[in-house]
Amino acid sequence: MIVMKFGGTSVGGAEQIKTVADIVKSYLNKKPVVVVSAVTKITDKLIELANTVSEGKGNEVLDSIKKIHYDIMEKLSLDKSLIIQDIEELSKMISKIKISKRVDNKLLDSIQSFGERMLSKIIAAQLNKINVKAQAFNSYDLGFVTTADFGNAEPLEKAFDSLNDNIKKLNVVPVITGFIGKTEQGEITTLGRGGSDYSAAVIGGAIDASEIQIWTDVDGIKSADPKIVSNAKTLEKVSFAEASEL
Ligand code: ASP
Ligand code: MG
Repeated sequence: MIVMKFGGTSVGGAEQIKTVADIVKSYLNKKPVVVVSAVTKITDKLIELANTVSEGKGNEVLDSIKKIHYDIMEKLSLDKSLIIQDIEELSKMISKIKISKRVDNKLLDSIQSFGERMLSKIIAAQLNKINVKAQAFNSYDLGFVTTADFGNAEPLEKAFDSLNDNIKKLNVVPVITGFIGKTEQGEITTLGRGGSDYSAAVIGGAIDASEIQIWTDVDGIKSADPKIVSNAKTLEKVSFAEASEL
């Protein structure tokens, strides 16, 4: 089994998501377990939503989050009903904040979780469309239990056994939400920004994967951040120390 994690700009739009599904399909012989983050910039928007709603605004942000997902689904000819429950749940949460005007870290984690929850469903649907039997899972439904450090949770030791048992039982390609988990009391947590790579590592460790692949939109490691240095080169070789310095 291998873990394939997709995030950032590699899931920025319909074309990229199509490519992601094709890549997964090409690895079926390795029994892939897919881990995903949210559509590019959606986590930022969800945080912005939480912050602006408590100031009595937020409708525009919510609309733009909806539009980004619906546009992608339309381009992929996927049924919008797939994420309608998530959108409704998110809207209800937002309505409550309009009254309470309070967003604590716990609530902020629940709000952020929708990015991964929606994208996992979209990617699983796209996989099914190209005849790969896939199913979306919220990590916590497969046993990803964490500490109650909202915004910066750590997986509990027992998560490893549960994840292993539950994932090994499946006979579909699981598309699992990165970044999020649940406490033992059933409250949604996040592992901290950028945490879906960490989720992939935890899941890979739990199932003793032969490989954990972190897919992104550039090949290999560049000599500098290509968003800042336009002529950054792909490095042929890099030591661990150099990589960590970069
Ligand atoms: N979607 C989350 C974030 O933007 C997690 C991740 O991308 O790894 O921080
Ligand atoms: Mg990342």
